[in-house]
Amino acid sequence: MQISSVSLSYPYINYSNLNFKGSSKKPITDKKYEKAVKYFNKEEEKDKTGFLHRLTYYNLKKLDGIQKGIEVFDGLSMKDINFLSNGTFILLNRGCKNNCTHCAYSAGSFNRKDGKLNKMSFEDYQSLIQGANELEKRLNGKAHVFDDLTLFLDSDCIDIEIEDKNGKKYDIIDCIKEAGKEKFGMPRTVLLDTSGWPVNNKKSQQRAEKIVSYLLEDDGSKKVRQFNISINPYHGIYAKAKELESEGKQSKAEKLKELYAKRMANVLFTFSPALETKNKINIIQRYVNGKYTERDDLHELYEIQDKVKNELEKMYDEDLNSSQKIVKTEADKQKYMAKWEGKLNISPKDNAISPFGRAEKLFDKKHSTSNTRKLKAAFHAIIHDYSYFYKVINTNGKVYMLEKDIAIPTNVSLNFENKDKKTRPVSIETKRYKFNYKG
Ligand code: SF4
Repeated sequence: MQISSVSLSYPYINYSNLNFKGSSKKPITDKKYEKAVKYFNKEEEKDKTGFLHRLTYYNLKKLDGIQKGIEVFDGLSMKDINFLSNGTFILLNRGCKNNCTHCAYSAGSFNRKDGKLNKMSFEDYQSLIQGANELEKRLNGKAHVFDDLTLFLDSDCIDIEIEDKNGKKYDIIDCIKEAGKEKFGMPRTVLLDTSGWPVNNKKSQQRAEKIVSYLLEDDGSKKVRQFNISINPYHGIYAKAKELESEGKQSKAEKLKELYAKRMANVLFTFSPALETKNKINIIQRYVNGKYTERDDLHELYEIQDKVKNELEKMYDEDLNSSQKIVKTEADKQKYMAKWEGKLNISPKDNAISPFGRAEKLFDKKHSTSNTRKLKAAFHAIIHDYSYFYKVINTNGKVYMLEKDIAIPTNVSLNFENKDKKTRPVSIETKRYKFNYKG
């Protein structure tokens, strides 16, 4: 439902002045294109360091027209393109196998046959990247379109796989390579994340090893900002163990805890060579802290850490005494163990999770924030400055703004071949409001 105005009674703010009317754009004429090129050619480079080559530093009204003929941006103004081109999540896949109880974006299941567009087509992804590249070429490298990308929101990078029309499959590394192609100036960087994979899953193991090799290459070291490994008591396997424990099924619960420890030890073992990269590997450990709820899961995290370290040490010993795939000497083992120890050291305050998405269920009711309250807070933030919101490009090209776990639909949409296909909701997607960016 599209509405023409909103009025939310948030303290001190009158929302009734916000205009939510749709805008229609005229086709770009040759004259408009030439005028935009002329304007831009006269402009000085705004940031000579090359770090902040933002479109936003230019007069976007005068620049409008330079995007003429770039099909994926058909119907978008330069203001719209600027709007979606920083802090961008491109959702290649929708859905996740990990089923975490703390998932802020309430990820649905992976590979669900629900008739929805759960994968971006490779052609649409390519048209977006190539469109951005073409625009950057026209901007002579003086401004960037997409600096930092994240190619997931509610999925795990190990499982990401999109397809082209001929059925050829592309994993996350193929997609990163595509994202950086023909880039002017600074590399376009991406963030990666995993919660692990089943130890015996050969395909996932090979993918993980491919990521490690890529991180060690020059190209990967430039394009991957960070690789996050997520360890917590809320992964589906560990959460199930806790459930069994509460039912008094101790031995079954222990088996699942062991399974989770082995899974995460295998992730650390596999990524050991990547510890040689400069600050690329990061461990994210989340827990609900006792300040906001009866439960305090920090001790669970410490229990997991101990189990993972034990299993990891066993894996290093086994490797040292057999194939020496990763560990060739006792010194290698000590070096890696010390590095992981350092990364597993956590500051409890910084790792506490917030009551967003599915994580809300982990908190006492009185500390949960209702969707309406979060939505009001989101609008509060919008009217102050929406340019620094995260933008989410869904599998069908529709653009959302993300405020915490609330996804607010916008009137900005890419000209994808799948633009009319239905998708799952993005996180907690509000159906009541639509933000019309006045480009
Ligand atoms: S938190 Fe991450 S890994 Fe877990 S279900 Fe959500 S998207 Fe998947």
